[in-house]
Amino acid sequence: MKSLSRVAAFALLCVMIVPLGMLASGDEKPLDGFSADSSRTERQWEEKFKAIPKPENLRAYMEHLSARPHNVGTPYDKENAEWIAAKFKEFGLDTHIETFDVLFPTPKERVVELVSGGPKFTAKLEEPTVPGDSTSSQHTEQLPTYNAYSTDGDVTGKLVFVNYGIPEDYDRLARLGISVQGAIVIAKYGHSWRGIKPKVAAEHGAVGCLIYSDPNDDGFKQGETFPAGPWRPLEGVQRGSVADDPIYPGDPLTPGIGATKDAKRLAVKDAPVITKIPVLPISYGDAKPLLEALTGPVAPREWRGGLGMTYRVGPGPATVHLKVKANWDLKTIYDVIGKIPGSTSPDEWVIRGNHHDAWVNGAEDPVSGLVAVLEEARAMGELVKEGWKPKRTIPLCAWDAEVTGLIGSTEWAEEHHDELQKHAVAYINSDTNGRGYLFAEGSHSLERFINDVARDVQDPETNLSVWKRHQLYAISTADDTDERNELRTRTDWRIGALGSGSDYGTFQQHDGVAALNIGFGGEDGGGIYHSIYDDFYWYTHFSDTKFVYGRALAQTAGTAVMRLADAELLPFEFGDFTDTIKTYVKELKTLSDKMRDDIIERNKELDEGVFSAAADPQDVPTAVSPPREDAPPYLNFAPLDNAADALTHAAAAYHAALQKAQANGGAALASASLNEVNQMLIENEQHLTLEKGLPGRPWYKHYVDAPGQYTGYAAKTLPAVREAIELKHWKDADAEIVVTAKVLEGEAKYIRDAAEKLSSAIH
Ligand SMILES: [Zn+2]
Repeated sequence: MKSLSRVAAFALLCVMIVPLGMLASGDEKPLDGFSADSSRTERQWEEKFKAIPKPENLRAYMEHLSARPHNVGTPYDKENAEWIAAKFKEFGLDTHIETFDVLFPTPKERVVELVSGGPKFTAKLEEPTVPGDSTSSQHTEQLPTYNAYSTDGDVTGKLVFVNYGIPEDYDRLARLGISVQGAIVIAKYGHSWRGIKPKVAAEHGAVGCLIYSDPNDDGFKQGETFPAGPWRPLEGVQRGSVADDPIYPGDPLTPGIGATKDAKRLAVKDAPVITKIPVLPISYGDAKPLLEALTGPVAPREWRGGLGMTYRVGPGPATVHLKVKANWDLKTIYDVIGKIPGSTSPDEWVIRGNHHDAWVNGAEDPVSGLVAVLEEARAMGELVKEGWKPKRTIPLCAWDAEVTGLIGSTEWAEEHHDELQKHAVAYINSDTNGRGYLFAEGSHSLERFINDVARDVQDPETNLSVWKRHQLYAISTADDTDERNELRTRTDWRIGALGSGSDYGTFQQHDGVAALNIGFGGEDGGGIYHSIYDDFYWYTHFSDTKFVYGRALAQTAGTAVMRLADAELLPFEFGDFTDTIKTYVKELKTLSDKMRDDIIERNKELDEGVFSAAADPQDVPTAVSPPREDAPPYLNFAPLDNAADALTHAAAAYHAALQKAQANGGAALASASLNEVNQMLIENEQHLTLEKGLPGRPWYKHYVDAPGQYTGYAAKTLPAVREAIELKHWKDADAEIVVTAKVLEGEAKYIRDAAEKLSSAIH
């Protein structure tokens, strides 16, 4: 690729006058998957496209879409869907709205009070109006602060502080000799998907769960609080779903099928994703009097937050009464789908999406990402008028009910499962967007592709490409020399694996459709996530205030969509994929070695009496030594090593076929019939799935990426093996190594077949 800084700086001066592609010299290396001629034409269309999105439009869309609360079930949620559909139609897209009826509980009663063991206190559970921020006063339309899919309950118990409430925190509590049996736990937000906190608390015998936002994490310890700055104010609360999405996302009553009018539904009481104990989120204003009423051991150093008090663990004497009751009605949701039909391969779909529903006004989450989709639609509509004919069909989607558990996208993808497996080339997602660096995560067969796209988009604050800026930023934050060396020498920067947290999950992990999630961020901190303060005022004062990163998102995602829709040969690549799988296998070996070493060391220390000698009986009189465990067996990783080897050979074979196809300006690509190869590439990601699904959670079919059962958002790669190791199920780990290796061997064979198909097609 050419040096982009010079080209990009030039583009800045003249993009409004002459599209950049028309200035570029003709001897440029063709884009992957394009012949020289079609690559030249593609670049011209892409440059025209990138000149169209306007920050002032993004701003106007946001002002409209975030003007009122628009959570699922509100009039404004439906109005927004209709407004987006009207815009898509105005831009020339073939548009319809698809509806589903889904379970969405809304609060009827919420009580948190300190009934004994401290000064009587009743939590406010309310976010006040902020002067100057006009939409913060829309109280009658705002959804109260709560966690959706908390079970109803009315419980009283001693309070215990459990740090972030993840499994290792309970190990630590056990060492302190503290049980949460019959207690109400209070956990900080962060370090896991919020639904993990009540799940783990219930597994340890707690009867209720409070989750609060500590100022150390997103409040005054980070910077000025709203409205003086972007961080979480005293009474700001993070709403959110606590459904156990790592079992299955989407409508809790219709796992695996679309929640249509007549779908067969589970009874609410039988839905396994609803929490076992009641849970409510609270502000740090409400949390402080509760935490101050705890005695017991001083919290471990890394548990202490930013409230300027001594954090103690309890239990009690603070005794808390927690009551949660919801209205468990079904609500109708509205997915907006606008299509640009493909000219020569209309049955191949390049899908782009972002959700439109929010917890309250949702200017950042999700509108900042959604407005880019709208400008992409407008820009593509203009290109079509100018004569652009994408080869493939482009569905642009605005999903409903994402914040409530990825419901709109999941129900749609479940309803269209068979079509997606046949037709979907890829799904490109965004969600929130802000100022800063491009991030990308997704299927590693698209790693090279998205890197190439990033090389062709300009960062609005520097004269660098967004690719270069990401690379330099990553060097500045790298952990060690090895990482810096790799960043400097590897052709592509690595993209992360998809876990959970937005609408890509169902496409990749249930349907086996290659997916990417992209956006900008990192320079715009904030603590308004899922609160009433995530609104137009906040966004236009503290985030991408000029909407230039909104434009960069539209340029990046739009370029990716166009390139996938126009390529002669779909630009999948398997070198980066194979390299990534090898790093995962290496991580698993390191993980199992470390767990073995830790257990052996701990047993040695138990023999020596280290724990009893080092414990301070005055400080923590209840402290106990950790339990002795058998040293784990050595696992046999040979099947995974062999599979990685097979992938290496297969990726090389595909690379060789690709080089042949791209030789002589890709002349062969222009004339060959590539339908069969492209169809194989469309179905490739499905070869990383198994119909039976992951152990214990059959909805999740992908054997490379899944959200963790005890982490939630964060991806677990090679999840069947990794989670067996983490749970110390050694026999299962050995068995799952064999299963996962078979999946990867199958993928290797598939790539070799695709290489052969490509070779014979270009002869
Ligand atoms: Zn979102």
